[in-house]
Amino acid sequence: LIAFAALFIFDVLHWEYHLFTGILSTVVFSVYAMVPLILHLIRIQMMEETALERQNERLAQELVASQDAAQRDFLTGCYNRHQLDAGFDRFSVLAHERGFRFSLALFDIDHFKEVNDTHGHLAGDQVLRDIAAIIHDEIDRRHIFIRYGGDEFILLSLHHDLAQMAMFCETLRAAIEATMGGITMSFGVSTWHGAGDSMHSLMERADRALYCSKEKGRNSVSTEGEAACCATCANANAEHHR
Ligand code: GH3
Ligand code: MG
Repeated sequence: LIAFAALFIFDVLHWEYHLFTGILSTVVFSVYAMVPLILHLIRIQMMEETALERQNERLAQELVASQDAAQRDFLTGCYNRHQLDAGFDRFSVLAHERGFRFSLALFDIDHFKEVNDTHGHLAGDQVLRDIAAIIHDEIDRRHIFIRYGGDEFILLSLHHDLAQMAMFCETLRAAIEATMGGITMSFGVSTWHGAGDSMHSLMERADRALYCSKEKGRNSVSTEGEAACCATCANANAEHHR
């Protein structure tokens, strides 16, 4: 702007008072005439850079969104079963390094086939969505909520020992019973026993506890401790109800 003003004054002085030679005036005038063009080019360059930055930001957001979508179950919005191992690895590293506790709950809708048979598959889908929404409302960043498959879900919960996890699952069970118009869920709970414990063993113990809840008459929460005491549940095939 200062240069622009200086050239302007220079030009005015020449035209008004003929202080400078014609050639010098022409040179000054050409430079003077170039200024808007240069400013225009700078402006276009800046606009292009801003547009590029915006496009990069949008692409980065889309990438994060599509990465998140790839980790989630389309119907319920829960994480899909591929996130189970990654979740276990994350929590077991944290638990190992910092001495945290974590537990796992495996839970399954009671008599879900009847819901589908009576009300249709679309109504069944809505039940799955509603249950997932109820649980999403109850959990926070300490939890990883996974749809394991069909009507079976998994919750991995950091900072929860066996008793705390059983208590939390009891809250979830009660919330579902209270709001889902007769639809209930059975829960099996296991807890991490330290570095020697594996995902497979954690799942197996939760699965036996879930079997225990089904045996008890459904709509209940059982822990790995209870399942170990009950001979039928302790010997149950881990894949019994899938
Ligand atoms: P139980 O109390 O022993 O669990 O009885 P159940 O009838 O719930 O038996 P099970 O858990 O084995 O049945 C799961 C049913 O879930 C079978 C299948 O038709 C239904 N299902 C699985 N995935 C979906 C889905 O995405 N949508 C709907 N609507 N139904 C599904
Ligand atoms: Mg079921």
